[in-house]
Amino acid sequence: MTIDGKAVAGESTFGVVNPATGEVFAQAPDCSKAQLDGVMDAAQRALRGWRKDEAKRRQTLLDCGEALKARVGEIAQVLTQEQGKPLAKAMEEVIGGVVWFQATAGLKIPVDVVSEGPDVRVEVRRKPYGIVGAITPWNFPLLLGIWKIAPALLAGNTIVVKPSPFTPLSTLKLGEILRDVVPAGVLNTISGGDQLGAWVSEHPAVRKISFTGSVATGKKVSIAAAPDLKRVTLELGGNDAAIVLGDVDPKQVAPKLFWGAFENCGQVCSAIKRLYVDEAIYAPLVEEMAKIARDVKVGNGLEQGVQLGPVNNRPQFQRVCELVEDAKKHGAKFVTGGARTGDRGYFFQPTLVTGISDGVRLVDEEQFGPALPIMPFRRVEDAIERANATHFGLSGSVWSRDVARATEIVSELECGTGWVNQHLAIRPDAPFGGCKWSGIGYENGPWGLAAFTELQTINVVKG
Ligand code: NAD
Repeated sequence: MTIDGKAVAGESTFGVVNPATGEVFAQAPDCSKAQLDGVMDAAQRALRGWRKDEAKRRQTLLDCGEALKARVGEIAQVLTQEQGKPLAKAMEEVIGGVVWFQATAGLKIPVDVVSEGPDVRVEVRRKPYGIVGAITPWNFPLLLGIWKIAPALLAGNTIVVKPSPFTPLSTLKLGEILRDVVPAGVLNTISGGDQLGAWVSEHPAVRKISFTGSVATGKKVSIAAAPDLKRVTLELGGNDAAIVLGDVDPKQVAPKLFWGAFENCGQVCSAIKRLYVDEAIYAPLVEEMAKIARDVKVGNGLEQGVQLGPVNNRPQFQRVCELVEDAKKHGAKFVTGGARTGDRGYFFQPTLVTGISDGVRLVDEEQFGPALPIMPFRRVEDAIERANATHFGLSGSVWSRDVARATEIVSELECGTGWVNQHLAIRPDAPFGGCKWSGIGYENGPWGLAAFTELQTINVVKG
């Protein structure tokens, strides 16, 4: 771990499993409660100097980007081994981290002048909260950590980052790489089980929690933060619908829809999780997608040419199997896949499901894995209603040659991001967040930076 600028071992360790083999390949430190108190003391001490010098913070983010860029290959190897994604995708994730550091370094921390007269000046400044607790999931452990680290630090906070116990190593490696770049105590990276996340959420030194993970845990974090009135940002699960109108060319959109659903083995919060297709093109589109699914190379992410790795962990793998079995019981048809593949690791065949409708778990719940239900519709109004009939509201997309009409339709979806003729286009300069149970608050761009500041009105009588 990196605590107060130093390498620190845990009081004990826990095993990290490579999902491609199902075997423990490394030990990670298990941060004790007493150690966590020490982390918070270090983060508190570091605040005093750090919050004062904005120019230095901005330069530090640029330096973080450079330091990470120099170690892309090394950190990507670790990421593939603990997460499962193909090495090229792991490299993309690390490079994404570099881009996010650079883009965040360019954001302004504005001072708004409300009134400027001969006698009085009223201005509004953005101030850091203090210590931020950052808790991250296992699907994009490195990038989602950097989404929090970069804006939190630019705003003048110090931060304690706790990654998922399934994927702690890339975040710990990041802490190690940045140990000489960021002043001691400003960026602390620790690891442990879910209990450590609960300790961070309720720790009295923490003033803001930035959490990415499941809805169920997000609610627990919210409850833990409430007695202390900690501020929270929650980036939670999704059950994104994509609505495909009858005027598209099935062959042309099929690859985009396929990868919008199966990127990272379907383990993306804002992946396509339900596909609604105009019945006029339903059969040809399913067939085009099936061709892609049959050709995809599934395997160990360290092997050349692999496009889809395993599901990240045993509980998630079992959940995908369970949802698929439930769909089978409800009479669903499996155009491709429908079962695990290989006898070691957590590999599952890319699975396209038809003959299924709303009301079955695979449609109603977040599957977070490589199994996609594809459902026909006759009237687009019905598709919109079905897309919105959920507690989730992360993102959604509409596909059509009529861009104006698609844009109108996407604006009717109850979700934080609406895409037209694409899915999963996430950028450092646009806000990302969810409606309803998909979250509270936003990350990225000036909105994401604002989430790590609070306002101070300074009202001055001159002379
Ligand atoms: P999870 O909720 O199980 O775990 C997330 C993190 O919370 C982990 O670090 C975990 O150790 C920690 N944690 C567990 N119990 C805790 C507690 N009681 N208090 C505090 N922390 C606790 O989620 P996961 O399975 O790691 O991730 C998958 C979920 O994350 C999916 O639902 C996915 O959609 C969501 N997700 C959302 C976004 C987004 O930006 N909206 C991005 C990626 C993933």
